[in-house]
Amino acid sequence: MSRVDLHIHTTASDGVLSPAQVVQAAVEKGLIAIAITDHDTTDGLDEAAEAAAGTGLEVIPGIELSAEQGDQEIHILGYYLDHRDAALRDKLGVLRHARRERAWRMVDRLAGMGMPVSWERVVRIAGDTSAFGRPHIARALRDSGFVGSIDEAFDRYIGLRGPAYVARYKLSPEEALRIIADSGGLPVLAHPWRHEEIVPRLVTAGLAGLEAYYPRYSTDESRMLARLAQRHGLIATGGSDFHGYDDGAAQSLGEVPVPERSVERLRALATRRGPEDAA
Ligand code: AMP
Ligand code: ZN
Ligand code: FE
Ligand code: FE
Repeated sequence: MSRVDLHIHTTASDGVLSPAQVVQAAVEKGLIAIAITDHDTTDGLDEAAEAAAGTGLEVIPGIELSAEQGDQEIHILGYYLDHRDAALRDKLGVLRHARRERAWRMVDRLAGMGMPVSWERVVRIAGDTSAFGRPHIARALRDSGFVGSIDEAFDRYIGLRGPAYVARYKLSPEEALRIIADSGGLPVLAHPWRHEEIVPRLVTAGLAGLEAYYPRYSTDESRMLARLAQRHGLIATGGSDFHGYDDGAAQSLGEVPVPERSVERLRALATRRGPEDAA
């Protein structure tokens, strides 16, 4: 159990709990700092900040962008970005449009395979979000009775090599870094295990941190990643990648041990790079 969790999804993208519910759960668990890092959207940040007001919980504004390098998916987290930045909002809008179109194509493909999940059902499950993701389709497949669990949906149909998988437009890692940095944020490489070779290149492009603490990373793996971070002058961060699935694969809020010093270092760097630098 840890008092900080810097990787959390909400209903603003493919999580199950609303931003306010995540904040409430974090307060109940005694966390002192969380970051909301939804896929390609900052729509949950204001609700989370409002819910946290007066509780003593720090809510760090964040995001998680999906990028692609060869056949690898590279995810970049961004912390302390200015989510009111107009250019940021425009770019995220483009990414979310591509997500919606891709979700529709996956539904179409499933129908062709004899699994007519209705688009209306997917839209209903997605709720208020415009950041459609595979978990919404997985839940629709499960609710329609075509699979027994979220995991089965990924394993059999919509995982990377699954028959209903459709790729979507993805940024290059450098583009993702730039989007975050241009809106005043600190870019951090998410779940970097087996993506270590890209680290030097991303450091040159302005990477600020490395997610060394992550579910299923052993103590040894985390230690190796923390050492890698240190060698490159990066901040070692971490989080649970909480989505709140009501499924076996669920990761619990605050269940990954993340050093509180991660937050202090991120905050200090964000402050140092703050308004006076940007001016
Ligand atoms: P997308 O961004 O639409 O490609 O969907 C990726 C998301 O799907 C990730 O953020 C994970 O939360 C989720 N995901 C990927 N693989 C699995 C899996 N095997 N089981 C459950 N969720 C998964
Ligand atoms: Zn997700
Ligand atoms: Fe990720
Ligand atoms: Fe994530």
